[in-house]
Amino acid sequence: MPEQRLRIAIQKKGRLSDDTVKLLKACGVKVNLNTQRLIAHSENMPIDILRVRDDDIPGLVMDGVVDLGFIGQNVLEEESMMRKVANEPTSHKVVKELAFGDCRFSIAVDNDFDYQGVQSLANLRIATTYVHILKRFMEEANVPYTSCMLTGSVEVAPRAGLADAICDLVSTGATLEANGLKEVEVIYRSTAVLMQRDEPLTGEKQELVDRILTRIDGVQTAKESKYIMLNAPKSNLKAISDLLPGSDLPTVMELAGSTDHVALHVVSKENLFWETMEQLKALGASSILVLPIEKMME
Ligand code: ATP
Ligand code: MG
Repeated sequence: MPEQRLRIAIQKKGRLSDDTVKLLKACGVKVNLNTQRLIAHSENMPIDILRVRDDDIPGLVMDGVVDLGFIGQNVLEEESMMRKVANEPTSHKVVKELAFGDCRFSIAVDNDFDYQGVQSLANLRIATTYVHILKRFMEEANVPYTSCMLTGSVEVAPRAGLADAICDLVSTGATLEANGLKEVEVIYRSTAVLMQRDEPLTGEKQELVDRILTRIDGVQTAKESKYIMLNAPKSNLKAISDLLPGSDLPTVMELAGSTDHVALHVVSKENLFWETMEQLKALGASSILVLPIEKMME
């Protein structure tokens, strides 16, 4: 009998965990993750959450052990390449790009290294976790090198004498800087994605997946959007609404006790910056409020 509950793999502890759990919660999936258990059952939906190391997630989806997985593209790409070499199944679908987990996979060298382009890396030893992505880049660049596989603390490898350069995930660059390294090549850009197993799910499970996907859209567009309210003099209404981003359909309401002012409400796809607020004020707008939106369905 096929498993009736939808199985979703998430990273147990790490950079993707908090955002993934927050997103599931925002999508209305109630689950108690305050235990150390590998599998957590949702209280309000037929969903089981598997909490594992991120490296295991693509394989679990590709082997059909779980239906969905929240994962960084870099790990998915690396696992796919590794499995291709090993002749193991790699099929899956990426069903959603997510608005978190942004990072780049970059080569970095000592600050005082005289870097003249990728040819400067010739015959060096490069430490990395994602050896296949690095290999593809170096082969395309036609630069010979030796790779040194490390699963953690890659950034200390040059100082420890294990490698001449590193290839690692970077978001702000602070870790590189703290280790006396400079970023010289960005070889891959990554965000978190939601992946699904390739074999068709039962009708009910697929319906549940579709609902979750719609809700993820709702949460992600809401996060980028703002609800803007202000009072505006009727005489400047046009100039004021022209300043509001994405305000093709503002709601205009009478203000009790005022004949020359109205209230203007608008859902904007962008944030409203201080500069625009100052311009609005200069046009006579007052009581300008910019509110976050929690959920949205268009
Ligand atoms: P695990 O114990 O689950 O194997 P990990 O140490 O391999 O965890 P994390 O450091 O938690 O992985 O990172 C998980 C993912 O977060 C990365 O694979 C990447 O997609 C993403 N990420 C976003 N920003 C960064 C960053 N600055 N450094 C590393 N990873 C980042
Ligand atoms: Mg990992």
